[in-house]
Amino acid sequence: MLKSRETAEVVIIGGGVIGLAVARALALRGVRDVLLIERGSLGAEASSAAAGMLAPQAEANRAHEFFYLTCRSRDMYPAFAAELLDETGIDIELETAGTLYLAFTDHDAEELQKRYEWQTRAGLPIEKLSAQAVRELEPAINEEARAALKFPLDTQVENRRLINALILANERIGVHLETGTAVTSLKIERDRITGIETSRGFISTNAVVIAGGAWSSLLGAGDKALPQLRIKPVRGQMLCFQPSLPLARHVVYSPRGYIVPRRDGRLLAGSTSEHAGFEKQVTAAGVQQILAAALELSPRIASLPLTDAWAGLRPRAADTLPVLGPCGEIAGLHYATGHYRNGILLAPVTGELIASAIVDKAFPSELEIFSPDRFGLVAVG
Ligand SMILES: Cc1cc2nc3c(=O)[nH]c(=O)nc-3n(C[C@H](O)[C@H](O)[C@H](O)COP(=O)(O)OP(=O)(O)OC[C@H]3O[C@@H](n4cnc5c(N)ncnc54)[C@H](O)[C@@H]3O)c2cc1C
Repeated sequence: MLKSRETAEVVIIGGGVIGLAVARALALRGVRDVLLIERGSLGAEASSAAAGMLAPQAEANRAHEFFYLTCRSRDMYPAFAAELLDETGIDIELETAGTLYLAFTDHDAEELQKRYEWQTRAGLPIEKLSAQAVRELEPAINEEARAALKFPLDTQVENRRLINALILANERIGVHLETGTAVTSLKIERDRITGIETSRGFISTNAVVIAGGAWSSLLGAGDKALPQLRIKPVRGQMLCFQPSLPLARHVVYSPRGYIVPRRDGRLLAGSTSEHAGFEKQVTAAGVQQILAAALELSPRIASLPLTDAWAGLRPRAADTLPVLGPCGEIAGLHYATGHYRNGILLAPVTGELIASAIVDKAFPSELEIFSPDRFGLVAVG
């Protein structure tokens, strides 16, 4: 087996959208020796399974630091997409049609009304549509839809193209991407990171970013204590249909599911939220649940060929918030994980925040609610 490099200025553990976004942001800030280590293939886990929706407003019930962080990242996307196109020639297919949220029941309508009221009060762009107006926008949606909200700024990106663009951007800027290598433990001496142990040998470094997705809290440091993140995998299944003509232009939600039309003609439908450990398979019950929600959105889906199905594991911290920034107790240790349902959306802002924490030694105090220091320390073993 080939031996790994022996030193690096910064090591990133995990090659999903988050690790790749952090690596690129560090290299753009002038860090020359960035090493990203991925156990399998780059982007092959949750980041490829995702639907690619950038929809902070559609999902938010209140204003909160998390809500503002997601909006900030969504609003970074136009520049992020343009930069990636410039760096790689890859178009990540950032759409601008907006997102629709449909109500079918009294309860749905009440939820939509509450969302409309608080977001209008907060001065956010949001539109209320009658049943007729929504059918004019999307003729294939269910005639039973009673009302809808339109979120003009919430949108989507082709997350698999995003992964490919980030890989190429990193390669071109000189980031070393090492696949097929597992990090097995962190080395901590006198409360500071001094290296990592991998399946190909020891690498000495003073800065580590844990971006290991759903596996982030399995990493230990021998008998040394680490923040007790308790990241758990939450399985999400997805279905993919192939209509002969496009069925919708917008991302369309109900409280029970969503459909996402891709530029290449595919129509994705999702998803489930299941606590099934690290089991990644598609199940009959998952397919049934997604189909029911998709057919409620558009009965025309019933006749479409179902061409693909997959599942991925969302990384969820105990309090459901992302875990971002330096660890106060262990110098050189940083976290970029726990992005749960929003890792594609949060990739640009996470890259910026973590690169700035490492290069400028700065982390905004208003974002301390995301700090790994909110968890107590415990030895993982
Ligand atoms: C069905 C589904 C739909 C989703 N839809 C959306 C959406 O519409 N919008 C959105 O914003 N988000 C969505 N998400 C969530 C999003 O996919 C995740 O939040 C995001 O992909 C997390 O990225 P990540 O890089 O942290 O994790 P991952 O993509 O899982 O990458 C983590 C990587 O770390 C590697 N790794 C772990 N441990 C080690 C180790 N010890 N050594 C080496 N490598 C290691 C893994 O092999 C993996 O490749 C969805 C998720 C699912 C499952």
